[in-house]
Amino acid sequence: MSTPRDTESRYGFEVYPKRDLVIVRGEGATLWDDRGRAYIDCTAGIGVANVGHSNPEVVAAVERQARELITCPGIFYNDVRARAMEKLAGVAPDGLTRAFLSNSGTEAMEAAIKFARLTTGRNGFVSAMRGFHGRTLGALSATFRYRDEFEPLIQGHRFVPFNNPAKLEAAVDDSIAGVILEPVQGEGGVRPTDPDYLKAARALCDDRGALLILDEIQTGFGRTGRMFACQTHGVAPDIMTVAKGIAGGVPMGATLVSERITSAAGKHGSTFGGNPLACAAAIASIDYIMEHDLPGRAARLGSVFADRFRHRMPDTVRECRQLGLMIGIELKTKARPFLEALMRAGVLALPAGPTVIRLLPPLVIGEEDLVTACDTLIDVLGQDPSA
Ligand code: PLP
Repeated sequence: MSTPRDTESRYGFEVYPKRDLVIVRGEGATLWDDRGRAYIDCTAGIGVANVGHSNPEVVAAVERQARELITCPGIFYNDVRARAMEKLAGVAPDGLTRAFLSNSGTEAMEAAIKFARLTTGRNGFVSAMRGFHGRTLGALSATFRYRDEFEPLIQGHRFVPFNNPAKLEAAVDDSIAGVILEPVQGEGGVRPTDPDYLKAARALCDDRGALLILDEIQTGFGRTGRMFACQTHGVAPDIMTVAKGIAGGVPMGATLVSERITSAAGKHGSTFGGNPLACAAAIASIDYIMEHDLPGRAARLGSVFADRFRHRMPDTVRECRQLGLMIGIELKTKARPFLEALMRAGVLALPAGPTVIRLLPPLVIGEEDLVTACDTLIDVLGQDPSA
């Protein structure tokens, strides 16, 4: 009999390097494989399951909504979509009062790029080296890696070194519609912005007539210790993109915009965007995040991890960078063998570039599990991963 591994390999079109593991069930911060072995999950579906896997409130909301109405395109009004939009405006940083709903992070970025062009009448964008904003051609144009084989991309995108206000200032002229930044670079190695960098970017955009576009797709919904990472810096963008943790694992993206953004009526759209099923999941998920203060929990557990890890940091580690439960451990050597060893020891984690181990646990992870994950990581990093 063929296994899921054989069948996916036979019929799938592989784009990710795969781990030799078949995941069949999840609950909170635990995942089970097809042999019944449990793992402490520090991937959260790549930063998605902030409220935990199969969160009961999200499950109930999806079940209820599936019986009521699954699809309803934006050509009609819909009660659940209306509530989801109101909910998003209620938790968003100051001034982001409107939402365009889509189905993924990269779609949220595509919309941001189009809305910025429409609003400013300009075509250029500036984004950061090592930045990641998605894989469709517009979002890829703003992404530093993964692009070479797909050139030519959209013209007019410029890259600047991250956390360097002078280089940013030199790059933003009157051709630039928007500056696109992650408050913490995720795929690029878990690199938080310096305290004044986003403020400098905000002031520069105001001065030059460009829009500040913050990509909170990985940092959003409590991950970094605030609902959105830009709130740590007291900076509100003109456009903010979110996805991943928005709907408890159900695919959804949103481009949140200020009143300053020109309407895109008749100029953009999405069949599935804002469908009631995803919107019901988003409402349940955001309510759960707020009611259980998951941002506060991420901040507290982030400190628990940092104190414990820094105390016994193995020699293989160059640096530990983190904000809340977005944790990056830069090694002096390749990360992948250690990720495999960590998996054999019962903890699932992610890479972020060749030498960084990234931990993005569900924000509901129990303190005991986080401590176990931390201790296991310290042990694994202290040993030869191939032994
Ligand atoms: N932007 C950031 C910061 C991300 O981390 C990601 C995904 O990892 C994306 C955009 C793209 O999101 P998606 O994979 O949902 O298209």
